[in-house]
Amino acid sequence: MTIAVGSRRPSRPSAWEGAALGRILVAEDEPRIASLLEKGLAASGYTTEVADSGDEALALARSGRFDLVILDVGLPRMDGLEVLRELRQACETLPVVILTARGTVKDAVAGLDGGADDYITKPFRFEELLACVRLCLRGERTTDAAGTISVGDMSLDLRTKRAVVDGVGADLTARELAMAEAFFRHAGEVLTRAQLLEAVWGHEFDPGSNFVDVYVGYLRRKLGKDRISTVRGLGYRLETDARTTAA
Ligand code: CA
Repeated sequence: MTIAVGSRRPSRPSAWEGAALGRILVAEDEPRIASLLEKGLAASGYTTEVADSGDEALALARSGRFDLVILDVGLPRMDGLEVLRELRQACETLPVVILTARGTVKDAVAGLDGGADDYITKPFRFEELLACVRLCLRGERTTDAAGTISVGDMSLDLRTKRAVVDGVGADLTARELAMAEAFFRHAGEVLTRAQLLEAVWGHEFDPGSNFVDVYVGYLRRKLGKDRISTVRGLGYRLETDARTTAA
């Protein structure tokens, strides 16, 4: 069985032939955390390389050898958000997971706005990071398995991570796509926060977090505000056709 890799990727150098699950660049200057990530990811089947400064991380990320970047915000010489900005101009879709200290939500939001696919706050549980890595890589690795889901005048292409609403297209990040997929598969039904958390982040996440609300906000920005309704006390619903059912 072959693993589909996006055609935009350069051919894989022989040194990376053993990377069965994916090649991950770990940009982290704290040796203890870098080592933890390296060992944990290797044990889970990923190939890793560590960069301990922002400029090194940027150079390596641009090399085309990696499938995903785990990017610490506080890096010497060039901070993670700056690396992300530079990177997004060069290789548009390389998945990036931001690592940020707990309590610096501002950094996390800036990262997402800057084109990161997700963020993890330190200290983190390794399973949480792995779930996030798997999700961010999913779109990269199942390019031939997924299709398009259509609901009314909306469609969601799981392969290209693109939603089209009333003829207007929007590119989605990995998490936005996972959430949109849940909504599209259950169009017209109310999805609770717990169901959305489970669908997108897995059961190991703290149900008290506001991830769901934050991401519903991101999806509304891309699909249109009126497409996802808040059902007070219950959750959220993707409207199948707001205009005609309102009559
Ligand atoms: Ca750091």
